[in-house]
Amino acid sequence: MIGPSTKWMLDENILRCPACVSGPGRDPTKADPGQLQVVKEKWLVCVDCGRKYPVEDDIPQMLIEIGDKYRATPTEELS
Ligand SMILES: [Zn+2]
Repeated sequence: MIGPSTKWMLDENILRCPACVSGPGRDPTKADPGQLQVVKEKWLVCVDCGRKYPVEDDIPQMLIEIGDKYRATPTEELS
C-alpha cells in the first residue's frame, strides 16, 4: 500500500501496547509484550491483552484508557 496514511503502519513494529509494557497487569517474564496488529488499516490491536487503539488523523491513540474502551469490542465490529 502506498499513501500518506500508511506511514504510521511502519510503527506497528515499534509501537507496543502501553498497558502490556508498563501497566499494572504486565507480565515481566514475557519477552517483548504488547505487540500490535493492524486491523482494518486504522486500528492497532494488542495481541496480548486485546486492547484496541484507534488511529485518528494518522496518529495512533496509544492511551491505556482508550485501549480499554474498545477492549471488549470484537475486531470484526470495529469501524
Ligand atoms: Zn496489551
